[in-house]
Amino acid sequence: MPRAKTLRTLHDMPVVKGFRPLSMRANYRQAVILKLEEYEVLRLIDYEKKIHEEVAEMMNVSRPTVTRIYNSARIKISTALVEGRSFLIEGGDVRMARNFYQCEACMHRMSLLLDEDKPTVCSACGSDKILSLADCFVRGCRHCRRCR
Ligand SMILES: [Zn+2]
Ligand SMILES: [Zn+2]
Repeated sequence: MPRAKTLRTLHDMPVVKGFRPLSMRANYRQAVILKLEEYEVLRLIDYEKKIHEEVAEMMNVSRPTVTRIYNSARIKISTALVEGRSFLIEGGDVRMARNFYQCEACMHRMSLLLDEDKPTVCSACGSDKILSLADCFVRGCRHCRRCR
């Protein structure tokens, strides 16, 4: 029986679901898929300049696992760059440190503690069009403008 993977803890959600090369139409069949834990490792190591030990602790995985995820993320990004492929950020073996929501009317983001209820209205504009970002990024809702 395969050993269940330890879920990697995420502390943030990406701003967009993906990127596509200039002057090309989206071709999702050709897209490189970056998993959420790969995005998070790039964000923490390359963007926030954290050391691998710190990232391992934050994501609740071992140091070698961080290095493995980091290497695979870099291979994917460089493949997309060199081959001119779109890439999508979606899925992964993850759990959230907080819940993230976004208002579809004004794009305002809200991050709540795990035991807090989903907000019914946007704290910025009052709209009730609130989406859970986990639906988009972890499962891929395919309905909102982010997923299209
Ligand atoms: Zn709003
Ligand atoms: Zn979506």
